[in-house]
Amino acid sequence: MSIGMKIPEIKMSAEETGKWGMVIDQDICTGCQACVAACAMENNITFVGEEDSGYGRSMHWIRIERFWEGAYPEVKMTANQPMLCQQCGHATCEPVCPAFATVHSQAEQLNLQVYNRCVGTRYCGNNCPYQVRSFNWRDYQRPEPLPNQFNPDVTVRRMGVMEKCTFCIQRIHKAQDKAKSEGREVVDGEFTTACAQACPASAITFGRVDDPESLVSQLAKKHAHGVKHLEELGNLPNITYLKGG
Ligand code: SF4
Repeated sequence: MSIGMKIPEIKMSAEETGKWGMVIDQDICTGCQACVAACAMENNITFVGEEDSGYGRSMHWIRIERFWEGAYPEVKMTANQPMLCQQCGHATCEPVCPAFATVHSQAEQLNLQVYNRCVGTRYCGNNCPYQVRSFNWRDYQRPEPLPNQFNPDVTVRRMGVMEKCTFCIQRIHKAQDKAKSEGREVVDGEFTTACAQACPASAITFGRVDDPESLVSQLAKKHAHGVKHLEELGNLPNITYLKGG
C-alpha cells in the first residue's frame, strides 16, 4: 500500500478455506434473468424504483449484458453475458479504498466488503473495470409486509454504503459450519449460490476452483474456449466464461 498503513486482517479458521469460483456458459444462458431475481431475494437487494434507475442507481449485484449484431430492424442477439463481481485475486477496487472497507480474504480468496467500515467515497466502484459495485444513495424503504421476506443471514445495507456480490458468502459459511459439525469437508455440489440454484438452464456452476476434481474446475479445464474477462489488467478474475464451444 502506498500510504503505508497495515490492512486489518480478517481471521478465519482452518475449516474456512478454499478458493471459490464460477464458470458461466454463455452459450446456454437464455437471458431470462431468473439469476438476477434470485440474487435480489437471497441478498436483500433493494429495488430503487423508476426514477433512481433512470440515474443508473439500480442495486442489482448481477446484470445480464446483451450483445447484438446488425442494424435495426435486422438485429440479431449474439450473446447474453451475466456480469457480477469477479472476486479478483488482485482486485483493483481494494487498494483505492481509504477505509479498508474492501479487503481480500486470504483464506477464501474472496473480495470482501465490510459495510461498517465503508464511508462511501465510491473510489472502489469507479476503479472496478466490471462496474459491478452499487452504492446506496438512499435508505430505501420497503413497505409492510415486504420486510418479512428479508434473509436473516444477510445484512440490510444503509444509505452511503457500497455493496456487491459476495458469492453468497452466507451459504458458504453455512455449508462450512455444517461440514465442521459433522467432522468432514464440504462436498462439491453440496450447496451453490442463489443465482446458480435458480438458473433454469444450468448456465452457472459454482464451486471450489482449488479442487481439481470439482465440477467447476473440470468445466473450466475441459473447455478450451473459456475466457476471463479483462484479465489482461492483471486483476486475476475468478469467473470463467464459456462462449463459442
Ligand atoms: S438464470 Fe441462467 S439462463 Fe437465465 S439469465 Fe441467468 S444465467 Fe442466463
